[in-house]
This record gives sequence, structure tokens and C-alpha cells, in this order.
Amino acid sequence: MSISTNYLSGIMPDSGQNDEKISAHVAIVGSGPTGCFAALAMLKCIPEVRITVFEARPAPYGLLRYGVAPDHQGMKNVTRQFERLFGSNQVEFVGNVRIGQDLPFEVLQENFDFVVIATGLPSERALPVPVHPGAKIWGASQLLRYLNADPDSDLRTKETVELGDSVLIIGSGNVAMDVARLLAKSDEGFDGSDVDDAAREALAPSKITRITLLSRSPYEQVRWDPSMFKELCSIPGVEVYLDGRRSTERTDTFSGPTRHQRLRVEVFFNQKLREIDLQEDNAYANQITVRTQNGTSDAHLSAESPKTSFRASAVITAIGFEERRIGFGEVPADNVLRAGGCATGRLGNLAENRALAKQTAQLVAAKVGKQSKLTGLAGVAPFLAQTPVSFSDWKAIDEAEVTRARPGRIRQKFTSWSEMSDVVAQTRS
Ligand SMILES: Cc1cc2nc3c(=O)[nH]c(=O)nc-3n(C[C@H](O)[C@H](O)[C@H](O)COP(=O)(O)OP(=O)(O)OC[C@H]3O[C@@H](n4cnc5c(N)ncnc54)[C@H](O)[C@@H]3O)c2cc1C
Repeated sequence: MSISTNYLSGIMPDSGQNDEKISAHVAIVGSGPTGCFAALAMLKCIPEVRITVFEARPAPYGLLRYGVAPDHQGMKNVTRQFERLFGSNQVEFVGNVRIGQDLPFEVLQENFDFVVIATGLPSERALPVPVHPGAKIWGASQLLRYLNADPDSDLRTKETVELGDSVLIIGSGNVAMDVARLLAKSDEGFDGSDVDDAAREALAPSKITRITLLSRSPYEQVRWDPSMFKELCSIPGVEVYLDGRRSTERTDTFSGPTRHQRLRVEVFFNQKLREIDLQEDNAYANQITVRTQNGTSDAHLSAESPKTSFRASAVITAIGFEERRIGFGEVPADNVLRAGGCATGRLGNLAENRALAKQTAQLVAAKVGKQSKLTGLAGVAPFLAQTPVSFSDWKAIDEAEVTRARPGRIRQKFTSWSEMSDVVAQTRS
């Protein structure tokens, strides 16, 4: 995203502040929930701290904006806390700057007393089995990014994203539940959301008649939250089967028109994946065959264990995330800390990452001296190769998205960085 106006006036800390009073300059890399929770915690436990949150993208909040399901606005509302954070004159947002690419990591280390890395877990775990290269298989987070209007979703580069009539989801955690629910809901289920309607239309979920979830674990160890399962079961027109038996779970949480056609959602447990193949013969043109072995646990799987095949027109994987070390790799140093998923190797939910972020803030607090000798953001400004987006720039984008919301939606997100860039340029001129 290129913005030509000089950014410094929008971003640099208020010159009225007295530098002598600053106890520490802290840089946080990543403005997702972990980075924002860490900044909130530091404001509470480190007197006179100055915090700069660097974000690779023009829009803040990481997966809270581009991962968390668009029909779960209650969860997304956590951003209100973060808005208050960036309203503090002790905190700066520097968006559109990827550390390790637009700004060398060493420059941060030299100019800030502490650097907290909170870059999350950006890569989806790959399937550990042979996969036919022509099969339509996407990661769940790419699908969620697409429905959340992320300009960088892989699905945006595909010629066609229509899912066909039968979708198979590999995994049975909460992200798998999100995918099943978002594909099962009819249009009315998205009232009050910020779903990208064009993306939903392109996926053509109303044509789906069967969604199959393959769980590696047995039913007793399933990883979805009961509330997520209830939500799926209570969608009008959806019938849920567990290992072939109709689920008795039904609630009246949701009401509204039934889908155009009934949808069967099936969950099969104890399924160990063996391979994903593509049948291109006449009988099954472009049908994916997912082969599994069935056993009560890995230990009990043998060559004789029953083998099962599932057919699908598209496969979505929801088997977790892993870290891709970006730009700066390992940085062992006293003043560099990692927080959240990029520290633990597990993405975790918001509550878990808030707790981890608080711990990191306390570790920083324990090391802070009386007065910083460094200059923080002012020191790195000359090294910035990319023009940053300030928090007020972001607020202009935010407002424009809310203003152009369609009826029944709370916002219509921009699906390209250039549209956001135009809004920023107009607001600054
Ligand atoms: C599909 C999906 C649905 C979810 N739903 C829920 C839910 O309903 N409830 C719940 O509690 N949790 C949910 N989660 C989990 C939740 O999203 C995570 O707990 C949370 O987003 C992790 O926060 P984070 O800040 O560690 O990482 P992220 O949210 O990934 O944020 C990391 C940020 O760092 C930035 N970054 C990366 N590299 C750099 C760099 N080099 N320089 C600058 N910035 C960089 C990224 O752009 C990003 O903004 C869901 C996750 C997914 C994938």
C-alpha cells in the first residue's frame, strides 16, 4: 500500500510529553489480540512507559478482524478495548510496516528498550498424507479470511471458488465448527454481521447438501466447545449426525427461514487420514476421495483396521497452525520477548492469549529501569522504507467501511489495500 504524504505528523508522539519521564520505550511487533492485550497490560503495570505497536498491514487487530467468524460480532467487539488503547498518548500504532522487511529488526532493538514479538501463527499446518495436486483443498483460515474480506486470502487468486455440493472438513475443533456453521447458514443467519457477501456468493453455499467432518479423536475427546456444536445443530434446516446417528442436540437459539434445501452434516470420529485423491473419470468428475483408516486410537491402528472412503467436491482443512519465522527468525536477546502463539507454538483463543500477554507485560515490568536513554519511534523513523498508516488513518478506513455497509450488515470491508490507501490519501489531503 503506498501513501505519499509524510506520515510523521500523524504518528509521532505528542511533543508536549516530557522525555525525561519516560521509563521505557517498548516496541510490539503485531497488532493482533496478543500485541494489543500486552500493550494494555503494560500501561497498567509500567509507569511512564511509551509503546509503539508495529503492524505489517494497514488494518490492525490480526485474526480478530480477518479470522474470527463474521457472525460472531460479540467476540469481534473486543476491538473496542483496543480502540481505547490507541487513544492513549502513551501508545502509537504504526501500520503498513512489516518488521524484518520494511524495517530491519535490529533497528528496533537499537532504539527500543524492549521488543515484544506478537506475530501469531500465520501458517496452517499441512496435511501429513499424500494429496492429489488437482484436488480443491483449502485451509480453514484462508476460507475465513475470504469471508472476512481479507485482501490477502489465497482464495482471492483462484479462478473459481464454488464449493460444489459436498464439502469435507478435516478436523473437529472450533475452527472446523466455524466453517461448518458459516457454510450451513442461510443469508438471514448473517444479519448484523460484516460478512463479505460477494465472497459468500462466490462460494455458493446454498448448493451444498452435505458437509462431512472427520475427527481424528473419539467423540469423548472432541475439541469443539459444546456451545459451538449447539449453534450448528440449531440452524433451521440442518440435520446433524454423529457416526451415523441423528444428534439429539437441538436448541431454539436461532429462528428464521429454513435453507432452500435441507443440509446433512455428518461427523465421523476416530478417522485417521491416509490420502486425498482426485477422481477424474466420467462417474466422478472432479470428485475428491478422502481415504481414512478407522481405529479407536493410533496405537490400535493396523494394516487390518477398517478403511473408509469419503467423496467430496471440496475439502477444507482445520488441523491447526504453525509458525513461519518471518524476516527476523530467532532473536535471542535479553530485551526481546515473544508473546502468544508465536511463543507457545499454539494459536490459542483470545482468553489464553490475553493471559499470555499479561505475563509478558509483567516480565517486561520486572526489567524496566528508572529512565530510558533511548528514543523509541523517533529513532527508527529515518529507517522506515514504507510509509506507515497511523491510528487516525485507520479510523478513517474504519468509518468508510461502516458508512458503506449494506442493509443488514454492520460494515462492508474493503477487499483491496489500494481502496484503503485511497481513503487514507483523501482523508489526509
Ligand atoms: C478462523 C479462526 C476463528 C477464530 N475464532 C475465535 C473465536 O471465536 N474466539 C476466540 O477466542 N478465538 C478465536 N480464534 C483465535 C484468535 O483469532 C487468536 O487467539 C488470536 O487472533 C491470536 O492473536 P495474535 O495476536 O497472537 O495473532 P494474530 O491475530 O495472528 O495477530 C498477529 C498480527 O501480527 C502481524 N504481523 C505478523 N508478522 C509481522 C511483522 N513481521 N511485522 C509486523 N506485524 C506482523 C499480523 O499482520 C497480525 O496482525 C480464531 C482463530 C481463527 C484462525
